[in-house]
Amino acid sequence: MQRIAYFGGTFDPVHNGHLSIARALIDLFGLDRFFFLPAFHAPHKPDRQPTSGYHRFAMLCLATSLDPKISVSTLELEKNEKRYTIDTLAELHAMHPGSRVFFVMGADSWTDIRTWREWESVLLSADHIVVTRPGYDISFDHVTDRVRERIVDLRLGRPAKLHDTSERRIFITNAIQYDASATELRLDLSDGHLDRKEDIPVEVAEYITKYNLYT
Ligand code: ATP
Repeated sequence: MQRIAYFGGTFDPVHNGHLSIARALIDLFGLDRFFFLPAFHAPHKPDRQPTSGYHRFAMLCLATSLDPKISVSTLELEKNEKRYTIDTLAELHAMHPGSRVFFVMGADSWTDIRTWREWESVLLSADHIVVTRPGYDISFDHVTDRVRERIVDLRLGRPAKLHDTSERRIFITNAIQYDASATELRLDLSDGHLDRKEDIPVEVAEYITKYNLYT
């Protein structure tokens, strides 16, 4: 059975925190494929105008071009409208019959999960991997008992049979501790200068300069 992970997000821009997660989870979960899944954003979102999906997609492709198991999915960008994860998950299962599909999120997304449409169904309808993020706690108080029963907290040690279970689970891992944030990088770039160069792959940094993004 193939093991495939999808990592949803804005990736505006992709940074080394995102890439460290992909690389570590491929090893930890024995994944066959790992997909970044950039989200479509309505052009006039109230909070902030996101960078065009074309640019976000291009930066992800540049950042992952040398990783044979890592690809970028156009599934949500192509829809040209905001997609809810519950619908995306149904589509992913239909696209990969017989595979185990893991959905990846960071600790901040886990904390906010109750704001997601049909959040309990989202958590029950696939395997999930929640990765810790510096500065964010992971608690389980905000989810239901049905969800809590699925949790396998790998921070407490790795169960011998991690790869044998065929039941859907919510895995919590602290295998990656990389303190980077797209918001902070955009702020850093907004004065035309990138101080935290080490947080962005060089190809992505060059792309940002060439296309004059975030200034
Ligand atoms: P922002 O700083 O604007 O919130 P971001 O860096 O979180 O951006 P997103 O594209 O919003 O980037 O994140 C996509 C997913 O990656 C989210 O689930 C988020 O929790 C997770 N994530 C991002 N950076 C990290 C990190 N350094 N460690 C763990 N998870 C992260």
